[in-house]
Amino acid sequence: MKLSLAYYGESILRKKCERVNEINEELRQLVNDMVETMMAHDGIGIAAPQVHHSIALFIINVPIPTENGHWLPPKLRVFINPKIIAHSEELWGLEEGCLSIPTIYGTVHRPIKIKVEATDLDGNVFIEEFVGYEARAIMHENDHINGVLFIDRLHGKERKELELRLREIKKKYLKK
Ligand SMILES: [Zn+2]
Repeated sequence: MKLSLAYYGESILRKKCERVNEINEELRQLVNDMVETMMAHDGIGIAAPQVHHSIALFIINVPIPTENGHWLPPKLRVFINPKIIAHSEELWGLEEGCLSIPTIYGTVHRPIKIKVEATDLDGNVFIEEFVGYEARAIMHENDHINGVLFIDRLHGKERKELELRLREIKKKYLKK
């Protein structure tokens, strides 16, 4: 089932999420619904608060570039109670967007490489390294779990230029 999205201005996007204590049928259904919702909006990741569930859960579905310039098909990954336990000093900037903040894009600088600890849908804890686009998507979604949005990470001038449009988005979507 496709779920309704939370949009910029809704308070749930600013809350720190609760830990997931039990992986049950209800949670598995939520993950299925999040996949459907993400796909319907052509997203490459979505976090539970974006579908009005304030729990530490997100999914990513990011195409992976190969060394010879091709792209591997995206691989769906589920992260429950995620924690970024290490990151590279080296940063790279790329334009990001967010399903909860339609039509807004901005360049975010993030570490190129991270190490993540999380639980998968079978309840297994894993520790894994991610680089590039996947690492970026994980950090973007992990921010959602902590009530942080990518616009918070834009530099002064870029953020300032967006203020007016952000206010318009808030008005447009909160009226519904
Ligand atoms: Zn987002």
